[in-house]
Amino acid sequence: MISLHAVSKSYQRQFDALAPLSLEIPAGELLVVLGSSGSGKSTLLKLINRLLEPDSGHIDYIGKPLREHDPVQLRRNIGYVFQGIGLLPHLTIADNVATVPRLRGDDPRRCHELAQQLLTSVNLDPSIYAQRLPAELSGGQQQRVGVARALATGADLLLMDEPFGALDAITRDELQEVLLDLHQRLHKTIVFVTHDILEAVRLADRIVVLHQGQLQQIGTAAQLLNAPATRFVQQLFSKPLQALDRLRLKS
Ligand code: ADP
Ligand code: MG
Repeated sequence: MISLHAVSKSYQRQFDALAPLSLEIPAGELLVVLGSSGSGKSTLLKLINRLLEPDSGHIDYIGKPLREHDPVQLRRNIGYVFQGIGLLPHLTIADNVATVPRLRGDDPRRCHELAQQLLTSVNLDPSIYAQRLPAELSGGQQQRVGVARALATGADLLLMDEPFGALDAITRDELQEVLLDLHQRLHKTIVFVTHDILEAVRLADRIVVLHQGQLQQIGTAAQLLNAPATRFVQQLFSKPLQALDRLRLKS
């Protein structure tokens, strides 16, 4: 679905936010991009939906160079979910979910039905929540609306930038479950950014590890754990494992 060919990006000339990186993302994959703050994760997502243009290399999307896709069309066809998702405060939850279909000029009745259906699919009862305003929802509920809104675009590709980063552990756990369930049912291609290794392991078909703009390794969680390609990947996994070992020794 997406192929990146030696794509790189610098904001200032002396420093690569993203060193040349090649990556194939097949349709239907849930790919997690894992790295600490500043490692280039958001830059990678922004290149995929053309909020940024690469300095070198190129990206193909559904068999056609990204730059040949119309950027406005592209952004409407790619769902984008981020932390503090920016729901429009004066619109109801239902209208927020149906933002893109409304912009496209879809029939209002269909927009309404779609919103109801998608709210249900993220475990928000539309009879309770559809007519509320965003401020009347908790952070976790708003994040569910963000996921529903991204799905409402009808996009086959969802880009998710640390969407659950600000949530408490229990809420995050529930939303991870919702996402896995949606992925299983709808077979969307998802690129999910996180700095949380446990979240990555739980969600990912494959994990891409970034460190200071450099691709460290691409593989399943088991491959990363059992055959780390770099010292960074090895340490990434050994720290939580050591913490668990210490806990075991104490008990
Ligand atoms: P992440 O999402 O992994 O935290 P980013 O992709 O946002 O990382 O940033 C990668 C690097 O590029 C960081 O060092 C960051 O400071 C820098 N950077 C990001 N956006 C800009 C920008 N608009 N101008 C200058 N530097 C930027
Ligand atoms: Mg980021």
